Amino acid sequence: MGEAVAGSVGERFRELYGAQPEGVWAAPGRVNLIGEHTDYNDGFVMPFALPHQAVAAVSRREDGILRLHSADIGTDPVELRVADLIPGSDKSWTAYPSGVVWALREAGHELTGADVHLASTVPSGAGLSSSAALEVVVALALNDLYSLGLRGWQLARLCQRAENVYVGAPVGIMDQTASACCEAGHALFLDTRDLSQRQIPFDLAAEGMRLLVVDTRVKHSHSEGEYGKRRAGCEKGAALLGVDALRDVPYAELDAALERLGDEEEVRRLVRHVVTEDERVERVVSLLESGDTRAIGPVLVEGHASLRDDFRISCPELDLVVDTALASGALGARMTGGGFGGSAIVLVEATDVDAVTKAVEDAFAAAALKPPRVFEAVPSPGARRVG
Ligand code: ADP
Ligand code: MG
Repeated sequence: MGEAVAGSVGERFRELYGAQPEGVWAAPGRVNLIGEHTDYNDGFVMPFALPHQAVAAVSRREDGILRLHSADIGTDPVELRVADLIPGSDKSWTAYPSGVVWALREAGHELTGADVHLASTVPSGAGLSSSAALEVVVALALNDLYSLGLRGWQLARLCQRAENVYVGAPVGIMDQTASACCEAGHALFLDTRDLSQRQIPFDLAAEGMRLLVVDTRVKHSHSEGEYGKRRAGCEKGAALLGVDALRDVPYAELDAALERLGDEEEVRRLVRHVVTEDERVERVVSLLESGDTRAIGPVLVEGHASLRDDFRISCPELDLVVDTALASGALGARMTGGGFGGSAIVLVEATDVDAVTKAVEDAFAAAALKPPRVFEAVPSPGARRVG
């Protein structure tokens, strides 16, 4: 990241709080290459970090006060007392950073306050984890300033707890781990059961390819309720099959498991998605590790079909991106993130970037949709100190 960004965030901190920040930290948003709706089934995911990131200038305080300011919100700093943070009480953006302070204190870490100013280039609500970037950047800053000695995966767990309990959003562990642990030029193969991880080289530019993110800029309003229903359906499937989580259903035994679910048609579809999706992640890992990068294209397309037809969380806009990209020469494409809007990813030869982008933009215009936001995603560094 440019030192210029760290400098301007530090400069604004000085204007707001009248002193130099003790440091400046950055944490990225992420896009998930493959492994969708597997993280709350103890399964596999494979995100990589975006160049888009939240940057925070932070100083400690000793009087129990927490002051929070976001360049992207544009109000005066919000002032809170760390001892008075109550889960579920804050419905605004400040719940994300406050939740992190709450989670750290609840885990037994002595925090006596902080001044925080942050700015983010992660598009909010586009399925690219602007919320995790916000949490992780604050967690890392406090970890450093208060010398807590927590590792990336431990910070991720605390950030997840902040979002689950303090904010009240039942998210899995993927987003926070990606933001905290990803490395430039790699995708992160993460086992969400034990958080074991492996960095998988993923340098598309070196092989003449690109990965485009297409933010549809739609968010269908029923998405949260549907997420809860899918989670509940997966838990029901695991219970009916007598396993702790769907991760424990081996791919080789999928047909027998589906048979056992009898006429539970909806649960059968959810189970089929999760079990085949875990297998797709493993397939993508082995293709990338054997240098057969172009061959992941069809696996991404299979993943999209499974999310659309079995998990049923796509929407016309996401299908339009995928269908149009494939028809205009993309190697692979799929929706990414929670579904019902947000973003899709498209794997293309570098020479086809312009043609595929134009085809998608034209298709959106022809369907009278808002122009999508298309950008290239280069696997970027995870959270770190930048100033
Ligand atoms: P996503 O993580 O997919 O972007 P979420 O709904 O999980 O979507 O998180 C979006 C929320 O995160 C916003 O509504 C806002 O409360 C908070 N947020 C994201 N970026 C910023 C920012 N730059 N400043 C303040 N709050 C932000
Ligand atoms: Mg989020």
